[in-house]
Amino acid sequence: MALIVQKYGGTSVGSIERIKKVAARVQQTVQGGNQVVVVVSAMGKTTDGLVSLAKEISDNPSRREMDMLLSTGEQVSIALLSMALQSQGQPAISLTGAQVGIVTEGEHSKARILEIRKERIQRHLNQGEVVVVAGFQGISQSNDLEITTLGRGGSDTSAVALAASLQADLCEIYTDVPGILTTDPRLVPEAQLLREITSDEMLELASLGAKVLHPRAVEIARNYGVPLVVRSSWTDDPGTKVISPLPQSVSLQNLELNRPVNSVEYDREQTQITILQIPDRPGIAARLFGEIATAGLDVDLIIQSIHAENTNDIAFTVATEMKEKAAAVAKKIAPILRSTPEKSQEAEVVIEEKIAKVAITGAGIIGRPGIAAKMFQTLANQGINIKLISTSEVKMSCVIAAAELDKAIASLCQAFEIESSPVKMSESASPPTPSVRGVALDLKQARLAIRQIPDQPGMAAAIFNLLAQKNISVYMIIQSQRDDFKESQRTRDIAFTISEDDVDLACTALADLITSMGCPPLAIDREIAKVSIVGSGMIGHPGVAAQFFSALAQANINIEMIATSEIKVSCVVPKVDAEKALRVTHSAFGLGGETRINVPA
Ligand code: ADP
Ligand code: ASP
Ligand code: MG
Repeated sequence: MALIVQKYGGTSVGSIERIKKVAARVQQTVQGGNQVVVVVSAMGKTTDGLVSLAKEISDNPSRREMDMLLSTGEQVSIALLSMALQSQGQPAISLTGAQVGIVTEGEHSKARILEIRKERIQRHLNQGEVVVVAGFQGISQSNDLEITTLGRGGSDTSAVALAASLQADLCEIYTDVPGILTTDPRLVPEAQLLREITSDEMLELASLGAKVLHPRAVEIARNYGVPLVVRSSWTDDPGTKVISPLPQSVSLQNLELNRPVNSVEYDREQTQITILQIPDRPGIAARLFGEIATAGLDVDLIIQSIHAENTNDIAFTVATEMKEKAAAVAKKIAPILRSTPEKSQEAEVVIEEKIAKVAITGAGIIGRPGIAAKMFQTLANQGINIKLISTSEVKMSCVIAAAELDKAIASLCQAFEIESSPVKMSESASPPTPSVRGVALDLKQARLAIRQIPDQPGMAAAIFNLLAQKNISVYMIIQSQRDDFKESQRTRDIAFTISEDDVDLACTALADLITSMGCPPLAIDREIAKVSIVGSGMIGHPGVAAQFFSALAQANINIEMIATSEIKVSCVVPKVDAEKALRVTHSAFGLGGETRINVPA
């Protein structure tokens, strides 16, 4: 007999009629000879409604009381679904997170699951009952037994965590779309279904704004090797499989706090090329990386800093064997890109040889603000100066001097208790598949930038330690170089994105540090959107980034920030251009199809 965990989202249980349909599907699964645990969300838009009620009372309600309020939504739907099952003759029992024993940290509104006590569920399953569990909620491990919630969209995480703990044979996420699509069909109706996606790709997509799965659910599936499927609760179509690598044996204790980092990667032979002060207007990145792709050069990291006085610096790294060719392309194109040629020619392109890249990888790095801070602090403790930073959801990369690489690798392995040997990056490339699988849009972030930071070890650590102390998640971090060629005056800019809700908290947290570093005031931009392309097959396809930039350029959309990792490229663009950017990017990579996805209202 197989054990199946099924999760039904808000729209899937949005009415009594829908709840009856769900009950029928659950019963069918039982009749197929399976034990079933069902996780449900609150009905329809109930949780949003509860948030609005709270906002009518206070702009800043206590997080504890918000958890008390929001957790009620799921309690309604579990009771109704159990009644529906019972009235069909199917024994069932509803349980809240606390009754199941979903034990979490005490952090209200974004608690992580520590452990799931299985005894009670097991007992009911053995009695032939379907167990209907309230998603999105848990109970703190402290004696006070506080009700906690896991963060919006967190029922997916409840379901996958239950599947991991119970070692279920399958976890099915039922939603209002046919599965995981190339992008959000509400914004781009041509979006097409993906039959399969790797958990790495899905982790990036989910973290970059594809709401169809909660990123922490993907993280758990990846760490524990949970067989995961996303499909529609309206049809019998098979949906999308999320493919995880074979799990290393990970303990179920501290379920969501386990293993934020699972390897250290490096690349010894790199050259960094920076083009300084090029104008901040559409088409620049497309032109530059178009030329580079035409020359057949594979660019590794790409970083575009925030603009100062209407100019940008764009830095990228290439393997050392390609440095001459890449430098020649950069030198040829730099004067063409610059519209203000008052600086001397050689001032435009800076080539830094003998640099190396070191990265930590692991599911869920960015959701845990302390991890970035710890990486920067570890390097700072060794006196290592970080030249560039670029992050993705599963990887944080720093460019440092090649001479310091061994020291960096050793200290990071020690700090993150990595037992496996460090991985040389070019060896970790995956087999070629279609280069871009999906496109995501995030409209809920704001960008902060700290400029003219002294170029010394420890600066990034200081900044991200302060944010970590306030539990502020940072999504995209880039550090770029602002070079005026006198080593002593060299400064760096660090720009990063955080949730718009955290902006005020971040400003307060950073105020003293910014003053003490002598930097100009924090630059804040709330009118941004982040568009990202994701796909494992991007590795070794030099033209992909250029194609993305030129799609935006052709739509006359300015790129304000760029950050890359092996399997994604993200661009920050003005919020007004967000949907257009998503559409043109989706179509530039030929992801659209003939069939229109019909999303139930
Ligand atoms: P549920 O209530 O079932 O948890 P959600 O609203 O949280 O459903 O997630 C499903 C929604 O995610 C879809 O209706 C769709 O608008 C959105 N979405 C965003 N990106 C994608 C994508 N790449 N594939 C599928 N759906 C997506
Ligand atoms: N009801 C919660 C929310 O709307 C949890 C969920 O649906 O996943 O965020
Ligand atoms: Mg959801």
